[in-house]
Amino acid sequence: MSQWIEVRVPDIGDVQDVEVIEVLVAPGDAVTTDQSLIVLESDEGTLEIPAPRAGVVRELAVGLGERVSEGSLILRLEPAAPASAAVRSDAPRAGVVVLGAGPGGYTAAFRAADLGLDVVLVERYEKLGGVCLNVGCIPSKTLLHLAEVISEARELSRAGIEFGPPRLDLAKLRARKDAVVQRLTLGLAGLARRRGVKVVRGEARLVSPHEIEVTTVSGPTRIGFQHAILAAGSRALRLPGSPEDPRIMDSTAALALEEIPQRLLVIGGGIIGLELAAVFSALGSRVTVVELLPALLAGTDPDLVKPLQQRIEKRYENIFLSTQVTSLEPRQDGVRVTFEGPKGPPSDVFQRVLVAVGRRPNGDQIGAEAAGLQVDPRGFIGVDSQQRTNLPHVFAIGDLVGEPMLAHKATHEGKVAAEVIAGQSVAFDARAIPSVAYTDPEVAWMGLSETQAAERGIAVEKAVFPWLASARALGSGCEEGLTKLLFEPGSRRLLGAGIVGRNAGELISELVVALEMGADAADIALSIHPHPTLSETLAFAAEMAEGTITDLYVPKR
Ligand SMILES: Cc1cc2nc3c(=O)[nH]c(=O)nc-3n(C[C@H](O)[C@H](O)[C@H](O)COP(=O)(O)OP(=O)(O)OC[C@H]3O[C@@H](n4cnc5c(N)ncnc54)[C@H](O)[C@@H]3O)c2cc1C
Repeated sequence: MSQWIEVRVPDIGDVQDVEVIEVLVAPGDAVTTDQSLIVLESDEGTLEIPAPRAGVVRELAVGLGERVSEGSLILRLEPAAPASAAVRSDAPRAGVVVLGAGPGGYTAAFRAADLGLDVVLVERYEKLGGVCLNVGCIPSKTLLHLAEVISEARELSRAGIEFGPPRLDLAKLRARKDAVVQRLTLGLAGLARRRGVKVVRGEARLVSPHEIEVTTVSGPTRIGFQHAILAAGSRALRLPGSPEDPRIMDSTAALALEEIPQRLLVIGGGIIGLELAAVFSALGSRVTVVELLPALLAGTDPDLVKPLQQRIEKRYENIFLSTQVTSLEPRQDGVRVTFEGPKGPPSDVFQRVLVAVGRRPNGDQIGAEAAGLQVDPRGFIGVDSQQRTNLPHVFAIGDLVGEPMLAHKATHEGKVAAEVIAGQSVAFDARAIPSVAYTDPEVAWMGLSETQAAERGIAVEKAVFPWLASARALGSGCEEGLTKLLFEPGSRRLLGAGIVGRNAGELISELVVALEMGADAADIALSIHPHPTLSETLAFAAEMAEGTITDLYVPKR
Protein backbone atom coordinates (compact mmCIF):
# COMPACT_ATOMS: atom_id res chain seq x y z
CA MET A 1 0.00 0.00 0.00
CA SER A 2 2.85 2.35 0.84
CA GLN A 3 4.19 2.14 -2.73
CA TRP A 4 0.85 3.02 -4.27
CA ILE A 5 0.63 6.44 -5.79
CA GLU A 6 -2.42 8.68 -5.80
CA VAL A 7 -3.50 9.82 -9.25
CA ARG A 8 -5.38 13.11 -9.10
CA VAL A 9 -7.07 15.36 -11.65
CA PRO A 10 -4.28 17.56 -13.06
CA ASP A 11 -4.54 21.24 -13.90
CA ILE A 12 -7.37 21.32 -16.45
CA GLY A 13 -7.46 25.04 -17.04
CA ASP A 14 -10.27 27.28 -15.89
CA VAL A 15 -12.90 24.52 -15.70
CA GLN A 16 -13.99 23.29 -12.25
CA ASP A 17 -16.55 20.83 -10.98
CA VAL A 18 -16.85 18.75 -14.13
CA GLU A 19 -18.73 15.51 -14.64
CA VAL A 20 -17.06 12.12 -15.07
CA ILE A 21 -18.80 10.71 -18.17
CA GLU A 22 -16.65 7.60 -18.64
CA VAL A 23 -14.51 5.47 -16.32
CA LEU A 24 -12.16 3.51 -18.55
CA VAL A 25 -10.38 1.33 -15.98
CA ALA A 26 -11.27 -0.95 -13.08
CA PRO A 27 -9.32 -2.22 -10.04
CA GLY A 28 -6.82 -4.85 -11.15
CA ASP A 29 -6.33 -3.35 -14.63
CA ALA A 30 -2.75 -2.86 -15.82
CA VAL A 31 -2.31 0.54 -17.44
CA THR A 32 0.46 2.05 -19.51
CA THR A 33 1.80 5.60 -19.21
CA ASP A 34 -0.69 8.02 -20.72
CA GLN A 35 -3.45 5.46 -21.06
CA SER A 36 -6.72 7.32 -20.49
CA LEU A 37 -8.29 6.65 -17.10
CA ILE A 38 -11.46 8.75 -17.07
CA VAL A 39 -13.27 11.13 -19.42
CA LEU A 40 -14.61 14.46 -18.16
CA GLU A 41 -17.19 16.64 -19.82
CA SER A 42 -17.42 20.39 -19.37
CA ASP A 43 -18.99 23.23 -21.35
CA GLU A 44 -15.72 23.43 -23.25
CA GLY A 45 -15.81 19.78 -24.44
CA THR A 46 -14.53 16.41 -23.30
CA LEU A 47 -11.19 15.82 -21.68
CA GLU A 48 -9.41 12.51 -21.04
CA ILE A 49 -7.19 12.18 -18.00
CA PRO A 50 -4.23 9.89 -18.65
CA ALA A 51 -2.18 7.71 -16.30
CA PRO A 52 0.97 9.56 -15.23
CA ARG A 53 2.88 6.27 -15.33
CA ALA A 54 2.45 2.55 -15.96
CA GLY A 55 1.14 0.27 -13.21
CA VAL A 56 -1.84 -1.62 -11.86
CA VAL A 57 -5.01 0.14 -10.70
CA ARG A 58 -5.56 -0.82 -7.07
CA GLU A 59 -8.46 1.41 -5.93
CA LEU A 60 -10.87 3.59 -7.85
CA ALA A 61 -11.92 6.78 -6.08
CA VAL A 62 -14.40 8.19 -8.64
CA GLY A 63 -17.51 6.84 -10.31
CA LEU A 64 -19.64 7.64 -13.32
CA GLY A 65 -21.61 10.86 -12.96
CA GLU A 66 -19.52 12.18 -10.07
CA ARG A 67 -18.12 15.69 -10.31
CA VAL A 68 -14.42 16.46 -9.97
CA SER A 69 -12.04 19.44 -10.03
CA GLU A 70 -8.29 19.89 -10.16
CA GLY A 71 -6.74 17.83 -7.35
CA SER A 72 -9.66 15.37 -6.93
CA LEU A 73 -8.43 11.83 -6.31
CA ILE A 74 -9.12 9.52 -9.26
CA LEU A 75 -7.46 6.28 -8.19
CA ARG A 76 -4.55 4.63 -6.41
CA LEU A 77 -1.99 2.99 -8.66
CA GLU A 78 0.72 0.47 -7.92
CA PRO A 79 3.51 1.61 -10.22
CA ALA A 80 5.14 -0.97 -12.50
CA ALA A 81 8.56 -2.06 -11.24
CA PRO A 82 11.41 -1.04 -13.52
CA ALA A 83 12.60 -4.06 -15.50
CA SER A 84 16.20 -5.15 -15.77
CA ALA A 85 18.40 -3.16 -18.10
CA ALA A 86 18.64 -6.05 -20.55
CA VAL A 87 17.02 -5.41 -23.94
CA ARG A 88 13.69 -7.20 -24.00
CA SER A 89 13.48 -9.90 -26.61
CA ASP A 90 9.67 -9.87 -26.97
CA ALA A 91 10.11 -7.02 -29.45
CA PRO A 92 6.76 -5.90 -30.84
CA ARG A 93 6.48 -5.09 -34.54
CA ALA A 94 4.67 -2.12 -35.95
CA GLY A 95 3.43 -1.26 -39.39
CA VAL A 96 4.61 2.29 -38.82
CA VAL A 97 6.87 3.61 -36.09
CA VAL A 98 6.79 7.39 -35.69
CA LEU A 99 9.81 8.76 -33.82
CA GLY A 100 8.92 12.02 -32.06
CA ALA A 101 5.50 13.35 -31.05
CA GLY A 102 5.78 17.00 -32.09
CA PRO A 103 3.29 18.51 -34.56
CA GLY A 104 4.93 16.57 -37.40
CA GLY A 105 5.04 13.25 -35.57
CA TYR A 106 1.59 13.22 -33.96
CA THR A 107 -0.04 14.38 -37.19
CA ALA A 108 1.72 11.63 -39.14
CA ALA A 109 0.77 9.03 -36.54
CA PHE A 110 -2.90 10.09 -36.42
CA ARG A 111 -3.21 10.26 -40.21
CA ALA A 112 -1.54 6.86 -40.60
CA ALA A 113 -3.92 5.35 -38.02
CA ASP A 114 -6.92 6.95 -39.76
CA LEU A 115 -5.75 5.25 -42.95
CA GLY A 116 -5.87 1.88 -41.24
CA LEU A 117 -2.18 1.43 -40.45
CA ASP A 118 -0.94 -0.02 -37.19
CA VAL A 119 1.04 2.77 -35.54
CA VAL A 120 3.46 3.13 -32.63
CA LEU A 121 4.36 6.69 -31.63
CA VAL A 122 7.58 7.04 -29.61
CA GLU A 123 8.29 10.13 -27.52
CA ARG A 124 11.01 10.74 -24.95
CA TYR A 125 9.08 13.31 -22.92
CA GLU A 126 6.06 12.77 -20.73
CA LYS A 127 3.84 15.07 -22.76
CA LEU A 128 2.99 14.77 -26.42
CA GLY A 129 3.13 17.84 -28.65
CA GLY A 130 6.86 18.41 -29.05
CA VAL A 131 8.49 21.81 -29.05
CA CYS A 132 5.47 23.54 -30.56
CA LEU A 133 2.92 22.67 -27.90
CA ASN A 134 5.16 22.48 -24.86
CA VAL A 135 7.93 25.04 -25.27
CA GLY A 136 7.33 26.82 -28.59
CA CYS A 137 4.37 28.14 -30.57
CA ILE A 138 1.67 27.70 -27.95
CA PRO A 139 3.25 29.02 -24.72
CA SER A 140 4.91 31.87 -26.64
CA LYS A 141 1.67 32.92 -28.31
CA THR A 142 -0.24 32.66 -25.03
CA LEU A 143 2.24 35.08 -23.45
CA LEU A 144 2.32 37.28 -26.54
CA HIS A 145 -1.44 37.68 -26.31
CA LEU A 146 -1.05 38.96 -22.76
CA ALA A 147 1.77 41.26 -23.88
CA GLU A 148 -0.44 42.61 -26.66
CA VAL A 149 -3.25 43.40 -24.23
CA ILE A 150 -0.82 45.25 -21.95
CA SER A 151 0.61 47.34 -24.76
CA GLU A 152 -2.83 48.08 -26.25
CA ALA A 153 -4.09 49.19 -22.85
CA ARG A 154 -1.07 51.49 -22.56
CA GLU A 155 -1.70 52.98 -25.99
CA LEU A 156 -5.32 53.74 -25.23
CA SER A 157 -4.07 56.76 -23.28
CA ARG A 158 -3.73 58.45 -26.69
CA ALA A 159 -7.49 58.01 -27.07
CA GLY A 160 -8.27 59.37 -23.62
CA ILE A 161 -8.45 56.12 -21.64
CA GLU A 162 -5.88 55.71 -18.88
CA PHE A 163 -5.24 52.45 -17.09
CA GLY A 164 -2.69 52.35 -14.32
CA PRO A 165 0.54 50.40 -14.82
CA PRO A 166 -0.17 46.64 -14.88
CA ARG A 167 0.34 44.72 -11.62
CA LEU A 168 1.75 41.31 -12.41
CA ASP A 169 1.07 38.08 -10.57
CA LEU A 170 3.81 36.00 -12.13
CA ALA A 171 2.59 32.73 -10.61
CA LYS A 172 -0.88 33.26 -12.14
CA LEU A 173 0.60 34.26 -15.45
CA ARG A 174 2.69 31.08 -15.54
CA ALA A 175 -0.32 29.03 -14.47
CA ARG A 176 -2.42 30.47 -17.30
CA LYS A 177 0.24 29.54 -19.87
CA ASP A 178 0.74 26.08 -18.36
CA ALA A 179 -3.01 25.44 -18.30
CA VAL A 180 -3.31 26.15 -22.03
CA VAL A 181 -0.42 23.78 -22.76
CA GLN A 182 -1.77 21.13 -20.39
CA ARG A 183 -5.19 21.21 -21.98
CA LEU A 184 -3.79 20.72 -25.45
CA THR A 185 -1.34 17.96 -24.52
CA LEU A 186 -4.03 16.05 -22.61
CA GLY A 187 -6.24 16.41 -25.67
CA LEU A 188 -3.52 14.83 -27.82
CA ALA A 189 -3.19 11.84 -25.51
CA GLY A 190 -6.94 11.29 -25.89
CA LEU A 191 -6.81 11.62 -29.66
CA ALA A 192 -4.03 9.01 -29.79
CA ARG A 193 -6.01 6.57 -27.65
CA ARG A 194 -9.19 6.97 -29.66
CA ARG A 195 -7.31 6.17 -32.85
CA GLY A 196 -5.58 3.15 -31.36
CA VAL A 197 -2.13 4.72 -31.71
CA LYS A 198 0.16 3.02 -29.20
CA VAL A 199 2.31 5.59 -27.41
CA VAL A 200 5.69 4.40 -26.11
CA ARG A 201 7.67 6.69 -23.75
CA GLY A 202 11.42 6.74 -24.04
CA GLU A 203 14.46 7.90 -25.93
CA ALA A 204 14.62 6.10 -29.27
CA ARG A 205 17.37 5.42 -31.73
CA LEU A 206 17.63 3.35 -34.84
CA VAL A 207 19.61 0.15 -34.36
CA SER A 208 19.11 -1.32 -37.84
CA PRO A 209 17.17 -0.38 -40.98
CA HIS A 210 14.03 -2.07 -39.57
CA GLU A 211 14.36 -1.67 -35.81
CA ILE A 212 14.52 1.02 -33.14
CA GLU A 213 15.56 0.67 -29.54
CA VAL A 214 13.63 2.68 -26.97
CA THR A 215 15.02 3.31 -23.51
CA THR A 216 11.85 3.25 -21.42
CA VAL A 217 11.44 3.52 -17.63
CA SER A 218 11.15 -0.25 -17.56
CA GLY A 219 14.39 -0.73 -19.51
CA PRO A 220 15.37 -0.85 -23.18
CA THR A 221 12.99 -2.40 -25.67
CA ARG A 222 13.23 -2.94 -29.40
CA ILE A 223 10.44 -2.31 -31.87
CA GLY A 224 10.61 -3.69 -35.38
CA PHE A 225 8.88 -1.75 -38.15
CA GLN A 226 7.86 -2.00 -41.74
CA HIS A 227 7.96 1.76 -42.18
CA ALA A 228 9.32 4.55 -40.01
CA ILE A 229 8.55 8.27 -39.95
CA LEU A 230 11.33 10.24 -38.28
CA ALA A 231 10.07 13.42 -36.65
CA ALA A 232 12.72 14.12 -34.00
CA GLY A 233 12.63 17.90 -34.47
CA SER A 234 15.35 20.32 -33.46
CA ARG A 235 17.04 21.89 -30.45
CA ALA A 236 18.18 25.42 -29.57
CA LEU A 237 21.72 26.31 -30.60
CA ARG A 238 24.06 27.46 -27.85
CA LEU A 239 26.68 30.16 -28.22
CA PRO A 240 30.10 28.51 -28.49
CA GLY A 241 31.87 28.63 -25.14
CA SER A 242 28.79 29.90 -23.32
CA PRO A 243 29.01 29.09 -19.57
CA GLU A 244 26.31 27.12 -17.70
CA ASP A 245 24.27 29.59 -15.67
CA PRO A 246 20.51 29.71 -15.11
CA ARG A 247 20.52 33.40 -16.03
CA ILE A 248 21.74 32.51 -19.54
CA MET A 249 18.55 31.12 -21.01
CA ASP A 250 17.38 29.44 -24.20
CA SER A 251 13.78 29.95 -25.35
CA THR A 252 12.54 27.06 -23.19
CA ALA A 253 14.02 28.57 -20.03
CA ALA A 254 12.72 32.02 -20.97
CA LEU A 255 9.18 30.66 -21.42
CA ALA A 256 9.34 29.17 -17.93
CA LEU A 257 9.09 32.82 -16.76
CA GLU A 258 11.07 32.33 -13.57
CA GLU A 259 11.37 36.08 -13.11
CA ILE A 260 11.02 39.31 -15.04
CA PRO A 261 14.59 40.63 -15.15
CA GLN A 262 15.17 44.34 -14.82
CA ARG A 263 17.43 44.31 -17.86
CA LEU A 264 17.30 41.53 -20.45
CA LEU A 265 19.69 41.02 -23.35
CA VAL A 266 18.25 39.09 -26.28
CA ILE A 267 20.99 37.65 -28.48
CA GLY A 268 19.47 37.12 -31.94
CA GLY A 269 17.06 39.37 -33.82
CA GLY A 270 15.17 36.55 -35.54
CA ILE A 271 11.54 35.56 -35.02
CA ILE A 272 12.00 33.72 -31.70
CA GLY A 273 14.25 36.42 -30.21
CA LEU A 274 11.94 39.27 -31.18
CA GLU A 275 8.80 37.48 -30.00
CA LEU A 276 10.26 36.80 -26.57
CA ALA A 277 11.68 40.33 -26.43
CA ALA A 278 8.10 41.58 -26.93
CA VAL A 279 6.86 39.43 -24.04
CA PHE A 280 9.52 40.55 -21.57
CA SER A 281 9.30 44.19 -22.63
CA ALA A 282 5.53 44.23 -22.06
CA LEU A 283 6.02 42.54 -18.68
CA GLY A 284 8.42 45.30 -17.60
CA SER A 285 11.99 44.33 -18.57
CA ARG A 286 14.27 46.87 -20.20
CA VAL A 287 15.23 44.96 -23.32
CA THR A 288 18.34 45.16 -25.50
CA VAL A 289 18.49 43.15 -28.73
CA VAL A 290 21.83 42.32 -30.32
CA GLU A 291 22.03 40.88 -33.83
CA LEU A 292 25.12 39.78 -35.74
CA LEU A 293 23.65 40.63 -39.14
CA PRO A 294 22.87 44.17 -40.29
CA ALA A 295 19.06 43.64 -40.13
CA LEU A 296 16.36 42.31 -37.81
CA LEU A 297 14.41 39.32 -39.21
CA ALA A 298 17.30 38.91 -41.66
CA GLY A 299 16.16 37.92 -45.14
CA THR A 300 12.71 39.45 -44.72
CA ASP A 301 11.89 42.39 -47.02
CA PRO A 302 13.16 45.59 -45.32
CA ASP A 303 9.90 47.51 -45.91
CA LEU A 304 8.05 44.87 -43.85
CA VAL A 305 10.58 45.02 -41.03
CA LYS A 306 10.77 48.83 -40.88
CA PRO A 307 7.50 49.54 -38.97
CA LEU A 308 8.42 46.88 -36.41
CA GLN A 309 11.93 48.22 -36.02
CA GLN A 310 10.71 51.81 -35.65
CA ARG A 311 8.31 50.76 -32.93
CA ILE A 312 10.72 48.66 -30.90
CA GLU A 313 13.51 51.22 -31.24
CA LYS A 314 11.27 53.52 -29.20
CA ARG A 315 10.36 50.84 -26.68
CA TYR A 316 13.56 48.94 -26.11
CA GLU A 317 16.67 50.15 -24.37
CA ASN A 318 18.90 49.35 -27.35
CA ILE A 319 19.03 47.49 -30.64
CA PHE A 320 22.57 46.71 -31.76
CA LEU A 321 22.85 45.47 -35.36
CA SER A 322 26.02 44.12 -37.02
CA THR A 323 27.22 43.38 -33.50
CA GLN A 324 28.71 40.21 -32.10
CA VAL A 325 28.59 38.98 -28.53
CA THR A 326 32.13 37.83 -27.78
CA SER A 327 31.79 36.61 -24.20
CA LEU A 328 29.31 35.94 -21.42
CA GLU A 329 30.61 35.99 -17.86
CA PRO A 330 28.25 35.18 -14.97
CA ARG A 331 28.85 37.48 -11.98
CA GLN A 332 26.99 38.16 -8.80
CA ASP A 333 25.26 41.28 -10.13
CA GLY A 334 24.30 39.67 -13.46
CA VAL A 335 25.89 38.42 -16.64
CA ARG A 336 28.69 40.57 -18.03
CA VAL A 337 28.48 40.59 -21.82
CA THR A 338 31.17 41.87 -24.16
CA PHE A 339 30.26 43.16 -27.61
CA GLU A 340 32.14 43.78 -30.83
CA GLY A 341 30.48 46.04 -33.37
CA PRO A 342 30.00 49.58 -34.56
CA LYS A 343 27.44 50.69 -31.95
CA GLY A 344 27.36 48.40 -28.91
CA PRO A 345 29.30 49.33 -25.76
CA PRO A 346 32.47 47.29 -25.10
CA SER A 347 30.59 45.50 -22.30
CA ASP A 348 27.51 45.71 -20.11
CA VAL A 349 25.78 43.74 -17.34
CA PHE A 350 22.29 42.23 -17.70
CA GLN A 351 20.24 40.37 -15.11
CA ARG A 352 19.37 37.74 -17.71
CA VAL A 353 20.41 36.84 -21.25
CA LEU A 354 18.27 35.01 -23.77
CA VAL A 355 20.21 33.19 -26.47
CA ALA A 356 18.02 32.87 -29.57
CA VAL A 357 20.58 32.28 -32.30
CA GLY A 358 18.85 29.47 -34.19
CA ARG A 359 18.03 25.79 -33.95
CA ARG A 360 19.83 22.63 -34.97
CA PRO A 361 17.98 19.56 -36.29
CA ASN A 362 18.28 16.38 -34.21
CA GLY A 363 19.38 14.17 -37.12
CA ASP A 364 22.68 13.51 -35.36
CA GLN A 365 20.97 12.03 -32.28
CA ILE A 366 18.82 9.17 -33.52
CA GLY A 367 21.31 6.46 -34.48
CA ALA A 368 21.07 7.20 -38.20
CA GLU A 369 24.38 5.52 -38.98
CA ALA A 370 23.16 2.14 -37.64
CA ALA A 371 20.39 2.15 -40.23
CA GLY A 372 22.47 3.54 -43.09
CA LEU A 373 20.48 6.75 -43.09
CA GLN A 374 22.17 9.79 -44.61
CA VAL A 375 22.37 12.91 -42.42
CA ASP A 376 24.11 16.07 -43.62
CA PRO A 377 26.75 17.83 -41.50
CA ARG A 378 24.17 20.28 -40.13
CA GLY A 379 21.99 17.42 -38.85
CA PHE A 380 19.31 17.58 -41.58
CA ILE A 381 18.00 14.40 -43.21
CA GLY A 382 17.51 14.67 -46.97
CA VAL A 383 14.09 13.67 -48.34
CA ASP A 384 12.34 13.62 -51.71
CA SER A 385 8.98 15.25 -52.41
CA GLN A 386 7.24 12.26 -50.77
CA GLN A 387 9.31 12.72 -47.56
CA ARG A 388 11.27 9.53 -48.34
CA THR A 389 14.87 9.35 -47.10
CA ASN A 390 17.67 7.42 -48.83
CA LEU A 391 16.04 4.30 -47.30
CA PRO A 392 12.82 3.69 -49.25
CA HIS A 393 10.81 2.54 -46.19
CA VAL A 394 11.99 5.38 -43.90
CA PHE A 395 10.45 8.84 -44.09
CA ALA A 396 11.42 12.07 -42.35
CA ILE A 397 9.47 15.27 -41.68
CA GLY A 398 9.43 18.61 -39.89
CA ASP A 399 12.41 20.49 -38.48
CA LEU A 400 14.51 17.38 -39.13
CA VAL A 401 14.35 17.82 -42.90
CA GLY A 402 14.95 21.53 -43.42
CA GLU A 403 13.87 25.13 -43.32
CA PRO A 404 11.56 26.77 -42.64
CA MET A 405 11.39 25.18 -39.20
CA LEU A 406 7.68 25.77 -38.68
CA ALA A 407 4.93 23.67 -37.17
CA HIS A 408 2.53 23.99 -40.12
CA LYS A 409 5.22 22.74 -42.51
CA ALA A 410 5.83 19.77 -40.20
CA THR A 411 2.13 18.81 -40.04
CA HIS A 412 1.68 18.93 -43.81
CA GLU A 413 4.81 16.85 -44.35
CA GLY A 414 3.55 14.40 -41.72
CA LYS A 415 0.32 13.87 -43.62
CA VAL A 416 2.20 13.31 -46.88
CA ALA A 417 4.47 10.68 -45.30
CA ALA A 418 1.52 8.79 -43.78
CA GLU A 419 -0.46 8.90 -47.00
CA VAL A 420 2.48 7.70 -49.12
CA ILE A 421 2.98 4.76 -46.73
CA ALA A 422 -0.73 3.97 -47.04
CA GLY A 423 -0.28 3.74 -50.80
CA GLN A 424 -1.63 7.11 -51.88
CA SER A 425 -0.04 8.97 -54.76
CA VAL A 426 0.71 12.30 -53.07
CA ALA A 427 3.67 14.63 -52.62
CA PHE A 428 4.58 17.74 -50.63
CA ASP A 429 4.01 20.34 -53.28
CA ALA A 430 3.20 23.57 -51.43
CA ARG A 431 3.64 26.70 -53.51
CA ALA A 432 3.94 28.78 -50.37
CA ILE A 433 4.66 28.16 -46.70
CA PRO A 434 3.65 31.27 -44.75
CA SER A 435 5.95 32.67 -42.06
CA VAL A 436 4.76 34.89 -39.24
CA ALA A 437 6.61 36.89 -36.60
CA TYR A 438 3.99 37.43 -33.87
CA THR A 439 5.65 40.66 -32.84
CA ASP A 440 3.98 44.04 -32.30
CA PRO A 441 3.22 44.79 -35.10
CA GLU A 442 3.07 41.31 -36.64
CA VAL A 443 5.05 40.60 -39.81
CA ALA A 444 3.88 37.87 -42.22
CA TRP A 445 5.01 36.81 -45.64
CA MET A 446 4.49 33.98 -48.12
CA GLY A 447 5.58 32.91 -51.59
CA LEU A 448 8.21 34.94 -53.40
CA SER A 449 9.63 37.92 -51.52
CA GLU A 450 10.98 41.07 -53.10
CA THR A 451 14.42 40.23 -51.72
CA GLN A 452 14.36 36.76 -53.32
CA ALA A 453 13.05 38.18 -56.61
CA ALA A 454 15.98 40.62 -56.72
CA GLU A 455 18.52 37.91 -55.81
CA ARG A 456 17.17 35.52 -58.44
CA GLY A 457 16.65 38.15 -61.14
CA ILE A 458 12.89 37.52 -61.30
CA ALA A 459 10.88 40.46 -62.61
CA VAL A 460 7.86 41.30 -60.46
CA GLU A 461 5.13 43.91 -60.45
CA LYS A 462 4.71 45.29 -56.94
CA ALA A 463 1.57 46.79 -55.41
CA VAL A 464 1.62 48.28 -51.92
CA PHE A 465 -1.32 49.57 -49.93
CA PRO A 466 -0.31 51.65 -46.89
CA TRP A 467 -2.55 51.11 -43.87
CA LEU A 468 -2.57 54.86 -43.27
CA ALA A 469 -5.30 54.86 -45.92
CA SER A 470 -7.30 52.07 -44.25
CA ALA A 471 -10.29 53.27 -42.26
CA ARG A 472 -10.19 50.20 -40.03
CA ALA A 473 -6.48 50.58 -39.30
CA LEU A 474 -6.95 54.25 -38.39
CA GLY A 475 -9.92 53.50 -36.18
CA SER A 476 -8.02 50.71 -34.46
CA GLY A 477 -4.83 52.71 -33.97
CA CYS A 478 -2.67 50.41 -36.10
CA GLU A 479 -2.04 52.58 -39.14
CA GLU A 480 1.70 51.86 -39.31
CA GLY A 481 1.10 48.69 -41.38
CA LEU A 482 1.27 47.91 -45.07
CA THR A 483 0.11 45.18 -47.43
CA LYS A 484 2.35 44.30 -50.33
CA LEU A 485 1.53 42.00 -53.24
CA LEU A 486 3.97 40.78 -55.89
CA PHE A 487 2.61 39.79 -59.29
CA GLU A 488 4.01 38.21 -62.43
CA PRO A 489 4.34 41.08 -64.94
CA GLY A 490 1.81 40.77 -67.72
CA SER A 491 -0.42 38.01 -66.32
CA ARG A 492 -0.60 39.68 -62.87
CA ARG A 493 -0.69 36.24 -61.29
CA LEU A 494 0.10 36.44 -57.57
CA LEU A 495 3.68 35.34 -56.81
CA GLY A 496 4.12 36.43 -53.22
CA ALA A 497 2.96 38.78 -50.49
CA GLY A 498 4.00 40.44 -47.29
CA ILE A 499 2.02 42.19 -44.59
CA VAL A 500 3.14 44.13 -41.56
CA GLY A 501 0.52 45.25 -39.07
CA ARG A 502 -1.98 43.97 -36.55
CA ASN A 503 -3.20 40.44 -37.31
CA ALA A 504 -0.86 40.10 -40.29
CA GLY A 505 -0.54 36.43 -39.33
CA GLU A 506 -4.28 35.90 -39.81
CA LEU A 507 -4.53 38.04 -42.93
CA ILE A 508 -1.77 36.25 -44.85
CA SER A 509 -3.83 33.03 -45.15
CA GLU A 510 -6.14 34.52 -47.77
CA LEU A 511 -3.12 35.21 -49.94
CA VAL A 512 -1.79 31.67 -49.48
CA VAL A 513 -5.10 30.35 -50.81
CA ALA A 514 -4.98 32.88 -53.66
CA LEU A 515 -1.48 31.80 -54.62
CA GLU A 516 -2.30 28.09 -54.39
CA MET A 517 -5.32 28.66 -56.66
CA GLY A 518 -3.34 30.65 -59.20
CA ALA A 519 -5.31 33.85 -58.54
CA ASP A 520 -4.39 37.07 -60.29
CA ALA A 521 -4.78 40.69 -59.17
CA ALA A 522 -8.31 40.92 -60.60
CA ASP A 523 -9.43 37.82 -58.65
CA ILE A 524 -8.31 39.42 -55.39
CA ALA A 525 -9.54 42.95 -56.24
CA LEU A 526 -12.96 41.76 -57.42
CA SER A 527 -13.58 39.46 -54.46
CA ILE A 528 -15.74 41.60 -52.18
CA HIS A 529 -14.05 42.10 -48.81
CA PRO A 530 -16.13 43.25 -45.83
CA HIS A 531 -15.85 46.92 -44.86
CA PRO A 532 -14.29 48.18 -42.65
CA THR A 533 -11.70 45.45 -42.11
CA LEU A 534 -7.97 45.06 -42.33
CA SER A 535 -8.63 42.34 -44.92
CA GLU A 536 -9.74 45.09 -47.29
CA THR A 537 -6.11 46.15 -47.55
CA LEU A 538 -5.47 42.95 -49.53
CA ALA A 539 -8.10 43.88 -52.10
CA PHE A 540 -6.92 47.52 -52.13
CA ALA A 541 -3.34 46.40 -52.85
CA ALA A 542 -4.67 44.32 -55.76
CA GLU A 543 -6.66 47.36 -56.95
CA MET A 544 -3.40 49.33 -56.87
CA ALA A 545 -1.99 46.80 -59.35
CA GLU A 546 -5.15 46.91 -61.44
CA GLY A 547 -5.27 50.72 -61.45
CA THR A 548 -8.83 50.65 -60.08
CA ILE A 549 -8.13 51.94 -56.58
CA THR A 550 -10.45 54.69 -55.38
CA ASP A 551 -9.49 54.76 -51.70
CA LEU A 552 -6.21 56.43 -52.67
CA TYR A 553 -5.41 58.84 -55.48
CA VAL A 554 -2.66 57.43 -57.66
CA PRO A 555 -1.68 59.82 -60.48
CA LYS A 556 -1.74 58.17 -63.94
CA ARG A 557 1.69 57.17 -65.23
C1 LIG B 1 9.96 29.59 -28.78
C2 LIG B 1 9.48 28.99 -30.08
C3 LIG B 1 8.36 29.51 -30.71
C4 LIG B 1 7.90 28.96 -31.90
N1 LIG B 1 6.80 29.49 -32.48
C5 LIG B 1 6.33 28.97 -33.62
C6 LIG B 1 5.14 29.48 -34.22
O1 LIG B 1 4.53 30.41 -33.72
N2 LIG B 1 4.70 28.90 -35.35
C7 LIG B 1 5.36 27.86 -35.93
O2 LIG B 1 4.92 27.37 -36.97
N3 LIG B 1 6.49 27.35 -35.39
C8 LIG B 1 6.98 27.88 -34.25
N4 LIG B 1 8.10 27.35 -33.68
C9 LIG B 1 8.77 26.22 -34.36
C10 LIG B 1 8.01 24.91 -34.10
O3 LIG B 1 7.93 24.70 -32.72
C11 LIG B 1 8.71 23.76 -34.79
O4 LIG B 1 8.89 24.06 -36.15
C12 LIG B 1 7.89 22.49 -34.66
O5 LIG B 1 7.69 22.14 -33.32
C13 LIG B 1 8.60 21.35 -35.39
O6 LIG B 1 7.84 20.21 -35.27
P1 LIG B 1 8.50 18.76 -35.38
O7 LIG B 1 7.38 17.79 -35.26
O8 LIG B 1 9.38 18.70 -36.56
O9 LIG B 1 9.50 18.66 -34.14
P2 LIG B 1 9.37 18.98 -32.56
O10 LIG B 1 8.21 19.82 -32.23
O11 LIG B 1 10.73 19.45 -32.18
O12 LIG B 1 9.11 17.56 -31.96
C14 LIG B 1 10.08 16.55 -31.97
C15 LIG B 1 9.74 15.57 -30.88
O13 LIG B 1 10.62 14.46 -31.00
C16 LIG B 1 11.03 14.07 -29.71
N5 LIG B 1 12.31 13.37 -29.85
C17 LIG B 1 13.45 13.88 -30.36
N6 LIG B 1 14.41 12.94 -30.34
C18 LIG B 1 13.87 11.84 -29.80
C19 LIG B 1 14.35 10.54 -29.51
N7 LIG B 1 15.60 10.19 -29.79
N8 LIG B 1 13.51 9.65 -28.95
C20 LIG B 1 12.22 9.99 -28.66
N9 LIG B 1 11.71 11.21 -28.91
C21 LIG B 1 12.52 12.10 -29.48
C22 LIG B 1 11.14 15.38 -28.95
O14 LIG B 1 11.10 15.18 -27.56
C23 LIG B 1 9.95 16.15 -29.49
O15 LIG B 1 8.80 15.94 -28.72
C24 LIG B 1 8.58 27.86 -32.48
C25 LIG B 1 9.71 27.32 -31.86
C26 LIG B 1 10.15 27.87 -30.67
C27 LIG B 1 11.36 27.28 -30.00
